Amino acid sequence: MCPSPTRRAVILGAAGIPLAVHGATSAAGNWLLTDADQIEAAKTKAETNDWAKAALDSVLRNARQALQGSVELPDRGGQWPHWYSCMRDGVKLDTVSPTRHRCPECGTEYTGEPYDSVVLYGVHSRYAQSVRDLGLAFRFTGDAAYARRAGDILSAYATRYGTYKRHNTAGDDKVGGGRIMAQTLDESVWLIPVAWGYSLVRETLAVAVRARIENDLLVAAAELIREHRMGIHNIQCWKNSAVGCAGFAAGREDLVADAIDHPDRGFRAQIAKGVTGDGLWYEGSLGYHAYTMDALWPLAEAARHAGIDLYNNRMRSLWDAPLALAFPNGDPPGFNDNGGANLVNLGNLYEVAYARWQRPEYGRVAARSPRRNLQALLYGAVSVPEGPLVPEESRLLRASGFAMLRARGAVAAIRFGLHGGGHGHPDKLNLVTWGGGRMWGLDPGSINYGVPLHREWYRSTIAHNTVTVDGAVQADKDGQADQWNTGDGATTITASAASVYPGVHLIRTVTVRGNRIEDRFECASNAEHTYDWAFHAPGRLTTSLELKPGPERIAATNGYQHVESVASGRPAGDFWARWEAGGATFTLRIKGAEPAEVFTGAAPGKNPADRVPLLIIRRRGHNAVFDATHEFA
Ligand SMILES: [Zn+2]
Ligand SMILES: [Zn+2]
Repeated sequence: MCPSPTRRAVILGAAGIPLAVHGATSAAGNWLLTDADQIEAAKTKAETNDWAKAALDSVLRNARQALQGSVELPDRGGQWPHWYSCMRDGVKLDTVSPTRHRCPECGTEYTGEPYDSVVLYGVHSRYAQSVRDLGLAFRFTGDAAYARRAGDILSAYATRYGTYKRHNTAGDDKVGGGRIMAQTLDESVWLIPVAWGYSLVRETLAVAVRARIENDLLVAAAELIREHRMGIHNIQCWKNSAVGCAGFAAGREDLVADAIDHPDRGFRAQIAKGVTGDGLWYEGSLGYHAYTMDALWPLAEAARHAGIDLYNNRMRSLWDAPLALAFPNGDPPGFNDNGGANLVNLGNLYEVAYARWQRPEYGRVAARSPRRNLQALLYGAVSVPEGPLVPEESRLLRASGFAMLRARGAVAAIRFGLHGGGHGHPDKLNLVTWGGGRMWGLDPGSINYGVPLHREWYRSTIAHNTVTVDGAVQADKDGQADQWNTGDGATTITASAASVYPGVHLIRTVTVRGNRIEDRFECASNAEHTYDWAFHAPGRLTTSLELKPGPERIAATNGYQHVESVASGRPAGDFWARWEAGGATFTLRIKGAEPAEVFTGAAPGKNPADRVPLLIIRRRGHNAVFDATHEFA
């Protein structure tokens, strides 16, 4: 199907409302990412603001680089970056050359597949960014050389696209795989900037060239992505944006309608069903939450340029959750699979939000970031409000099962509910803490998924600051908030998990006040169990107990096998454990009401090569109570 600039089509949305996608706005007149007015405004911003000038210079620098040399596409598609880790220690590899890949930790060198093709993932990604920046540079400068080079790269990909073998992360030709990349997810992340760049230079290209790029690349990739049907998921959000942007760029209203209005998986369904009542993306990870925000705005902007407003209040609430759950430095608690998403690093997303909704709290996040990003250049307000980065009040996100308890000198995040699908961790009643100006209680988040250590450690219960029963991993069940009180400088939550271990009821009550956290963990059952209360924090660990080295391993499975340098002992009465780091100290004072066995050791942290000290208190019986006070200085 070839777009005609004069044809006007009306598409009915899910609710029977005309979407008013016009042939004109869906193709030549829609630059998806921006428009002529925004480009002019951005030039003015760049004349008087260092941040805007830096963002524009970066685009122009990339574009100039993309003019160098010849266009030489790889002979095959790229592979999954999650393979690019050392199999021995999980550390990410360094690329020594296109065919040599070395672990910076242990020096092991890897060759062949899948490593060589992961390098090609980077090559294809750079071409996609080049197409985007060449398109923008053409619109900023009017220099036709940029448009010609973008056309050359796009034409080369149109010629090659159908010849690249479809492949998934295992190298198999299956639905879900891509041609440029190994997943429809990565194919989508690749396609969006390519569609942007194409729409920016489209009118400079000959009609026959346009037809080839539209049919053999944009629509072909959109069809491959669309054939892989998912439900409510961050990946589907990326796929929708890719299919929608390709549809707008190629004038294919059917693709646009599919991306926006498909009742099971379109953009509107993702917002209606994927965003919990308190604004958190249902997968329960701030990392995936931010990744979903990243996925959504390209289609919302492309639609906006076509006269379709997708920016509703439910979508807006996605920008509230990271604020509700941020520690004072902007870091999220690392709950679930989570690569980390500090608020300041999300500045580009808050530029979009401040431009569309003008809420001061969004502008304040943008103000804290360097603002040298594309969204600030194209959409950013010239002046953004100053003020605190995160709220000072405590927040309960009951629907998504998170709470953030804030006091002047101590902050605690607790997770009790909404397991979070495939990216959920078995860590109900997990506590992540902050005090004395730094993070202490740690959730290490996740590492590259291709590494066995990810499943063995990061997805174990003992890797988290909660209770492990009988050395087993918790079931993927939700807990709940039973009580919540906040005011007069103190916040208390009681949260429980009744079904993560059969026949065991776990209840944690946490109060944050001043620079202290009072923390009581009750375990109750009709049968006898072994209860392991664990706490992980970075720094140097000392304790009031006399501990002896050993055993070699506390247990052989469920994550315990990764706890090294174990020492153990039996406290008589109260005791303390203290972590020191960067001139600050964190002291845990433990009540010794019941007989206990204590272990210390070290285990992987955010970087798998880290050895983070941990304390395990073990009690046996039908019931057990762990009474701890966390003090920060
Ligand atoms: Zn290694
Ligand atoms: Zn976790």
